[in-house]
Amino acid sequence: MSKERREIPARLSEEVLYRNKHICCICRTPNKHVEIHHIDGNPNNNAQSNLAVVCRDCRSLVTGYSGLGRRYAPGEVRKYKKAWEQFLALQSKVYKAPSVRVQRELIGQIDLIVCQILSTTDHVRRKELLEVLYNIHLWRSTPKLDQQIIEGFSHLAIISGLSIPSLAKELAMKTWELCWHFVCPDYAKMDKSGERFAIQCVHVVESIAFFNCKNKQNLDALNASLASAEEFFNIAISYKRKAIAGAVLKIHSEAIRTFGFEKDFPTGAAALRRSVRKLSKLLASSRLKWPEIDSKLKSLGRRRQVR
Ligand SMILES: [Zn+2]
Repeated sequence: MSKERREIPARLSEEVLYRNKHICCICRTPNKHVEIHHIDGNPNNNAQSNLAVVCRDCRSLVTGYSGLGRRYAPGEVRKYKKAWEQFLALQSKVYKAPSVRVQRELIGQIDLIVCQILSTTDHVRRKELLEVLYNIHLWRSTPKLDQQIIEGFSHLAIISGLSIPSLAKELAMKTWELCWHFVCPDYAKMDKSGERFAIQCVHVVESIAFFNCKNKQNLDALNASLASAEEFFNIAISYKRKAIAGAVLKIHSEAIRTFGFEKDFPTGAAALRRSVRKLSKLLASSRLKWPEIDSKLKSLGRRRQVR
């Protein structure tokens, strides 16, 4: 494949640099020379999601071939980019909090978008609308708007778990993205309301997993819910929030509970057990002393499907 370079349009590179405050998304060191890096290695892919701002030091780690240490994989760079951009967006949000009137209008819009997501059968359209909700959270969010968004997500979680597996999968990942700003305690603090918000997000994932196991039994949707659950468990560990960890375990226990009275979903049961093992490993390597969480994990690991 030819890797001839197609110039990044100036307006696009300006936008990307602006969104990243001209700072490397990996090391976040200010006042360094930065460049725009094509995450997937294809210099012709100028999609905004493929463009990361990196400094020269970090760039040598994403594109270099030296045997010195591990290179950053494209998926990793994508995470750094998104986490940094979201962090900056949330920081700057304070300066452009919408007025009460605009908030009221946005609340109406959020409800409308939720209805549209449920009434369309076009999966691409659903994804786009979900992205609109996410963008309201990212660029305009206030506690009130976030509350409305999470209520919309809760509603979508039940319906998608019951009857729209493709939406369930998408929603499980988007719900985790609502908490992307909790990169680590050094960069972003979590106050009580942040913890409450994260727990509400975990409840959404719990609904998706529970109703999906009870009804549709779609493995992709369950796997997406479990991947999201594991990310929330990571947040719980890095912020030392036992309440979040406890909420995550309810995702597993509630889903496992459905196997007691619903017909078999053996691939789902195996996925749940795998996920429980992963959480046990995460907790063990964190060296946190959470005996209740630990014993809950052990008992979940012993549970077998009832036939
Ligand atoms: Zn850097």
